Amino acid sequence: ATPTALLVGTGRGAQLGILIKGPQILESTRRVDTIVLDKTGTVTTGRMTLVAAVPVAGVDEKELLTLAGAAETGSEHPIAQAIVSGARDRVGALPAPESFASTDGLGVQALIEGRVVLVGRPRWLTEQWAITLPSELRAALAVVEGQGRTAVAVAWDGKARGIVAVSDVVKNTSAAAIAEFRRLGLRPVLLTGDNETVAASVAAEVGITDVRAGVLPAEKAEIIRALQGEGRVVAMVGDGVNDAVALATADLGIAMGTGTDVAIEASDLTLVRSDLIAAADAIRLSRRTLATIK
Ligand code: ADP
Ligand code: MG
Repeated sequence: ATPTALLVGTGRGAQLGILIKGPQILESTRRVDTIVLDKTGTVTTGRMTLVAAVPVAGVDEKELLTLAGAAETGSEHPIAQAIVSGARDRVGALPAPESFASTDGLGVQALIEGRVVLVGRPRWLTEQWAITLPSELRAALAVVEGQGRTAVAVAWDGKARGIVAVSDVVKNTSAAAIAEFRRLGLRPVLLTGDNETVAASVAAEVGITDVRAGVLPAEKAEIIRALQGEGRVVAMVGDGVNDAVALATADLGIAMGTGTDVAIEASDLTLVRSDLIAAADAIRLSRRTLATIK
């Protein structure tokens, strides 16, 4: 490939809303045979809304939302933003946490009005904090997850106090883009830290059968390496802080323009419109560009 032809491809990429870090990137795009897609913010809009709050007996919904909302004010995760704005709509101003810490891909902890509040993956609360969910909450969790929603558990002072559910919608271009990936000979894989039920419902909606759910941020990169170990050439599309290492590990890292700075920095391409159709355009463009210069 001559540098001039590659630069022409790069210019055409810009017209299609694809920012390419350097002309040499197009070369690696050509051999890609697998496309790994992050769920939240990539296949879905990531603009989540609060849809349910289920407290245990003895706790009222207002208290549950106040403490969960306050604990999430320090987090930029789409789940956190949904809980904070949903809680403010329902209960008004939220108290400021006295201290805050978050664990990527798992949840947050905060000190609020003297109470240690945890909000996160139910398994994280159980495995890390030895907080078990009573059967009423496990039942509520199964119901909301069965509806394809993401639920997080809320605890304070060492006890589970409720669950909060958020919902996200699949982008209207995702199913068409995935069909296009298949036409280009790429095998799509859905990769998410979210639970299996939610992942399966999104995958079914967009036509993906290979689903890896409940994955921790550090495991995302391991999955990419395992696919490479099988001889596959892997593109990864993502948007979050939790996707950065996987994006850098992939043969071709593609960031959503709406994604976090770390995801964009770790990637080779950025999709200005945050639309997966542009990822298919990028792969087609590079193949065409390289074919004409053979
Ligand atoms: P994804 O791979 O879909 O982008 P993440 O790895 O960011 O998801 O998060 C995985 C899971 O970790 C979420 O579904 C949620 O259960 C939990 N989690 C992550 N961040 C938070 C947060 N700020 N508050 C509550 N739960 C969180
Ligand atoms: Mg994401």
